[in-house]
Amino acid sequence: MPQKTSETPMMQQYQAIKDQYPDAFLFYRIGDFYELFNDDAIKGSQLLELTLTARNKSADDPIPMCGVPHHAVQSYIDVLIDHGYKVAICEQMEDPKKAVGMVKREVIQLVTPGTTMDVKAGEAKSNNYLAAVVPDKGQYGFAYADLSTGELKVATLTSKFTLQNELGALGSKEVVVPEDLAEDDAKLLGGGRLLSKQPASQPTAEASYVSQDLADPLAKATAVMLMQYLLATQKRSLAHIQKAVFYQPANYLEMDQDARTNLDILKNSRTGRKGDTLLAILDATKTAMGGRLLKQWLERPLLDLGHITARQDQVQTLLDHFFERSELQDRLTKVYDLERLAGRVAYGNVNGRDLIQLQTSLDQVPALQDILAKLDDGSFKDLRAELDPVADVAGLIRRAVEPEPPISITDGGVIMRGYNAQLDQYRDAMQNSKQWIADLEASEREATGIHNLRIRYNKVFGYYIEVTNSNLAKVPTDRYERKQTLTNAERFITPALKEKETLILEAEEKSTALEYDLFQEIREQVKLQIGRLQKLAAQLASLDVLQSFAVVAEAEHYVRPVMHAGSHTVTIHGGRHPVVEHVLGAQQYIPNDVLMGDDTDMLLITGPNMSGKSTYMRQLALIVIMAQAGSFVPADDAQLPVFDQIFTRIGAADDLAAGQSTFMVEMMEANAALAHATASSLVLFDEIGRGTATYDGMALAQAIIEYLHDHVHAKTLFSTHYHELTALSDSLPKLRNVHVGAVEQNGTLVFLHKMLPGPADKSYGIHVAKLAGLPADLLSRADTILTHLESSSVDKAAPVPETKEAEAQLSLFEPEPVRPKNDPVIKKLTAFDLLAATPMDAMNLIYDLQKHL
Ligand code: ADP
Repeated sequence: MPQKTSETPMMQQYQAIKDQYPDAFLFYRIGDFYELFNDDAIKGSQLLELTLTARNKSADDPIPMCGVPHHAVQSYIDVLIDHGYKVAICEQMEDPKKAVGMVKREVIQLVTPGTTMDVKAGEAKSNNYLAAVVPDKGQYGFAYADLSTGELKVATLTSKFTLQNELGALGSKEVVVPEDLAEDDAKLLGGGRLLSKQPASQPTAEASYVSQDLADPLAKATAVMLMQYLLATQKRSLAHIQKAVFYQPANYLEMDQDARTNLDILKNSRTGRKGDTLLAILDATKTAMGGRLLKQWLERPLLDLGHITARQDQVQTLLDHFFERSELQDRLTKVYDLERLAGRVAYGNVNGRDLIQLQTSLDQVPALQDILAKLDDGSFKDLRAELDPVADVAGLIRRAVEPEPPISITDGGVIMRGYNAQLDQYRDAMQNSKQWIADLEASEREATGIHNLRIRYNKVFGYYIEVTNSNLAKVPTDRYERKQTLTNAERFITPALKEKETLILEAEEKSTALEYDLFQEIREQVKLQIGRLQKLAAQLASLDVLQSFAVVAEAEHYVRPVMHAGSHTVTIHGGRHPVVEHVLGAQQYIPNDVLMGDDTDMLLITGPNMSGKSTYMRQLALIVIMAQAGSFVPADDAQLPVFDQIFTRIGAADDLAAGQSTFMVEMMEANAALAHATASSLVLFDEIGRGTATYDGMALAQAIIEYLHDHVHAKTLFSTHYHELTALSDSLPKLRNVHVGAVEQNGTLVFLHKMLPGPADKSYGIHVAKLAGLPADLLSRADTILTHLESSSVDKAAPVPETKEAEAQLSLFEPEPVRPKNDPVIKKLTAFDLLAATPMDAMNLIYDLQKHL
């Protein structure tokens, strides 16, 4: 009977390893291939488009199998990681020829979506953040790290709301969580993200080190868990991971998820084009580090007035110094990705070319210092003083590494002559012997009279003398020993030649081994300076973003916004939407003012569809974000307060796809704003209430406006097509009506995209009907009906219908509904304790009632 394949020693070894990585694809190295078995093979062969075969096909229980060649493994790993899976790479730990019994194998790395270091083309300017969350009695320890750059940040978050905002800001694909994570939390954190469980364990020295500056126990525990996970997956020392830095999300302008997705800051979910984003407009960075930092600045605009003005001062200085700025750009262009280079040094996968890139980058620093000195201005004084060219590292590489080294670090040719005496000796020996051979060729030609005699080298025979058939008669058979016969030539060796050959090969072997050791030593020396390299990287990145702000401000005619503390007034003249302006072209775009003094908390915007209401709202939000990130803004002039949070409710396309009812999502988001916004917040509500029946939508919209106006006092832009709501300006002192202007041109209505004071023209619909050519009688009848409706109800109903009379007027909207006393709607309404209810309770009630209609 054939032996069962599953019982072979190899499959036993495979299974033992696989059991340790049940949630990963196990890439099991056999010779030149990585093999996948069983379920991994079945699933893997589909995802990777590989042929599924079987091990031991004729056996009773053939084992499904597929394989990938080792040299192409990275691309296969990438595919699986992109699909959100993990891959455990299992190597042969000894030479199979020398192994006694089974070849020893071990997993050397677990690649996961949050830890992949492979930076794909076009993604150099993005971070790949791995997040970690530890829930603790309603609070959340929160940490995140980028393995390729070594950044590690940690916070304690006090609500689910901030947790979701933070996760949204990072865009993490993977979240590390404790093993005993509650199901509710798993639901909250999941949603397209991979949750990786990390068992609690005694922190290793490295994990304790990175978390040692943290005072808060929950933050510490989270940082430790994240680091333990990184160490467990990478299985090597991670010297470049920086000590965890504690941050407060409340120190940055917070944005809810809707704001992040609908303001087109980093992505444009509507057009999908990369160029149609704030990031793309503002990105004139010269380095990948600068690109990543710009993204971070836009994700986390500042709250501290001093910090904001410091950035603005620097941008202004760079704007004022055109020549220095272009010199600066030239230098930055030569700076490589220092952060990731430092990461690779620590990680151990750096080669000679990387070190040369490092040196080239460091070589720019003295020149950068000179340029900053020429700006002779206070704004860059500190930065200039702190810039450290890490000259020791640059000098070491200059002395030690060839300027154009090969990719491989194992084949020699990396280390410079003059760096190491022993290496030079080996090289001399090789060089001399090679010369000796070249001389020998000349002297043998002379001695034998064979002019085309050649000395050559190949891997099988080493050095040999080759003589063509026509000259064989002249061969000195006493000295030459025949080695090989070809069709038209013969090959010979001599003892002296073989002796030199041994010398050359020995010297070659020793020299490449020595070079490899020297390279490792150099790498270790550079590794000791990683902290300094990372600090320099951060400084150059910010310099890069600042010059980018200056370049864009100049090209796009942006101005420096004047920021004030202590007042919430907004004064923007000639404001523009940076992205729409770019898409349409500056001539096409109509600038608009935003004027909200102490007497105005809310602008109620009316106007037909497609007239520019939501563009106007987004424009304000983007100007605020740009200003607080330190950038100049698209306007003629702008005076702004420092906002603490931005809430938006614009567009519902994404949520619809997610299967929730638009209206419910709308209400949930409205609720988030009502609950969390402060007098320092910015609220943008676009057509709230549209998702439900007219009256109930309008009633809710009005209630929300009143609540924001009376209790929250946030600066609010509220667009609506319920014209009736414009009457609220009579009862709400801090609400102003604005509308989008339109004119008639050649029989069509043209939107001016210009915001004007006051409510929109009520008879706009009738106007359009007229333009469409409807009969005059009909139009005049419509006018009469409109006048009747207006005079009898609508405008007067809009202010709070508290009185009996006002309630009675509601009947003009809608015939009195005839409902029996035991109707579920009536019953629910009667039972509802209005005085004890929150606005959300009221919304839930209405939601509930609707289901009975
Ligand atoms: P609404 O929210 O009123 O339906 P949008 O804000 O979506 O309208 O604007 C509709 C279109 O009008 C935009 O796609 C844009 O092309 C154009 N638009 C909006 N505002 C302006 C403006 N200020 N100048 C020029 N075109 C504009």
